[in-house]
Amino acid sequence: MAALNERSLEENPNARPYVVFWVAPWQKTISEYKAFVTQEAAKRYFSRHKKKPPPVTPTLRRDFQQNLVYLWEEKFIDAHSPNDMTEEQMERIVQRVSDDFNMEAPGIAYKKPNPRHKYAASTYDPTPHAILMKRKKLTWVLHEVGHGVDHKINENQWSDHGPSFVRTIIRLADRYQVWQDPEKLEEEAKKMGILVADDDALPPLPS
Ligand SMILES: [Zn+2]
Repeated sequence: MAALNERSLEENPNARPYVVFWVAPWQKTISEYKAFVTQEAAKRYFSRHKKKPPPVTPTLRRDFQQNLVYLWEEKFIDAHSPNDMTEEQMERIVQRVSDDFNMEAPGIAYKKPNPRHKYAASTYDPTPHAILMKRKKLTWVLHEVGHGVDHKINENQWSDHGPSFVRTIIRLADRYQVWQDPEKLEEEAKKMGILVADDDALPPLPS
């Protein structure tokens, strides 16, 4: 806030910055805001923009249930998941899921995690559609390729681990981790307060 107005504040040390911000009902932190030097300018901007909806770009939305989704995966999906896959096996599963969903397969690389880091997070990057694995666990390969499916095929409009992503993960667990019970997964997620998109809210599963 101060940085935005630094110059104006230097010119007018008595000026007090005013801030107009937007929060959606599920947000707990303010990430969308604009600062003004005078209250009049802030009020003017506010009345001009108050009827507009919040930004729709998913990346601008807070990832409101990320930690809960991690916990749910750890509790209910991770348990029987193979965790010593070879790089070739990880590549093969990414290729298989991508083929099934008529999606161009994301690139996949494996990097040994730094032993000093407590959490070695694998990642999916939509640009350039690539996965970086740090753990050789089937659940996590499906998690990352799930981001790809949710992004490219399901056109997720929520945050990265939002309702559409959870539905995607349930579908992938059902399809590629056959020991999973999708109805139980959904039930347990909802019990934990996780929002899950309805099955018919997503494009139908490829046959
Ligand atoms: Zn994720």
